[in-house]
Parts: sequence; structure tokens; C-alpha cells
Amino acid sequence: MAPNRDLYFRQQPVGEMANLAYLVGSRSSREALVVDPAWSVDPLLDLAEADGMVVVGALATHYHQDHVGGQIFGFDIEGLARLLARNPVKVHVNDAEADGLRRITGVSESDLERHRGGDVLALGEIRVRLLHTPGHTPGSQCFLVEEAGQPARLVSGDTLFLGSCGRVDLPGSDPEAMYHSLNGTLKRLPDDTLVYPGHLYAPEASGTLGEQKRSNPYLRVSSLEQFLGFMGR
Ligand SMILES: [Zn+2]
Repeated sequence: MAPNRDLYFRQQPVGEMANLAYLVGSRSSREALVVDPAWSVDPLLDLAEADGMVVVGALATHYHQDHVGGQIFGFDIEGLARLLARNPVKVHVNDAEADGLRRITGVSESDLERHRGGDVLALGEIRVRLLHTPGHTPGSQCFLVEEAGQPARLVSGDTLFLGSCGRVDLPGSDPEAMYHSLNGTLKRLPDDTLVYPGHLYAPEASGTLGEQKRSNPYLRVSSLEQFLGFMGR
């Protein structure tokens, strides 16, 4: 496989809950987006800077504190608020998640760019397609990073993990929506798509979607009933 020509892509472990943040951008335009900036925002920005990249936006997979910052269990995780203080940019969020994101992080409406599934962001030769994948939360989104002639990369947040999927027993979760996100929206993507999850819960940090279709029990179910049964519903 020929190497990516324009894609800038870094996966960065952050914090104490095995979170994975990402920098995604274009080497030719030197623009990058930071996905789920939380826990240690300055090191993420320093990394982009050291690579000669300018962070031009933030992408939120969903509004949980370990991905975007906020108060949890009585302590404060830094996140979007720190990002905006040092490097003011728009936060790209699904419309269904925007109010929750404001409540959790304290960012204001003017900091947000609300999106629907199917919206596309362009950086140089790179396209970032925003897929609405509700289930873990109402406005969870996955990011399909595309460069012509290359397998796409799916930054999958807490929707799809390697070997498992995000929890659907939390406030705002919807097991049925999760079934459709996994077995409709994501399963339709090509097998050579590379999956980059929101947490390092498997020995490996990424893998092909084809392998997930074959081995991940949450993608192997053949019906909604089976999926809900599997979820203990
Ligand atoms: Zn979550």
C-alpha cells in the first residue's frame, strides 16, 4: 500500500481512563483538527506545534467529560475550555449533542459549529466526513478521514471499540440507536477502513473494520432482537 501523501494523523493516549485523542490534518495546508482534546490539552497542542501544524478546529465525538473536559466524580478534567483559552477555534459538534456539550464544558454557543450527519470538512487534500452515530449518546459522531487512493480512517469515539462498543446504559443512551449505528452506518463502510477508537481497550490501538465485522460480537449480530439480548435488555 502506498503511504498517505497529504494525511497528517496522530493518535495520542491521554489521561487516566485510557482515552485516545487525535490530531488529523493536511501536511500541505499545515492545518489540523484536534479530536476529543481532554486531560492534557497543552501537550496535544505542543505536539501539533512541534510538527509545524496549526490547529484550526476541534472535533467532539460526544459530550462525555473524559473526551471534552468537565467535572466528574468531584474532580475536574481539562478539555475544550483549556483549548479555547490557548487556541480559540470552532468546536464541531453534532446538533443533538450541542446543548449537552455546552452544559458539561461551559463553552458558549458562539464557540460551536453545529453539524448534521453527512457534513464534510476539508483540509488540503483531506476530507473529514461527519457520521452521526447515536446510541452511546444522542449526538455521538464518528469521523471518516479520507484521502484519494487510500483506505479511509474511522475515528470512532465511544461508538465502536476494537472487540466491543460503547456503553448504552448511561443517561441519554439508546441501545436500539446503537444497533443501527453499528450494523447500519458503520457496517456499510469498506472492510479496509482503519478503525481508531476513543479508548485503548484492546491490546492493539487500531485495526481494520473488516476484522471487526468478522470478530466483534456487536457487529456480528444478525438482528435487533439479538443485539438487545446481547446487551442484556
Ligand atoms: Zn463516552
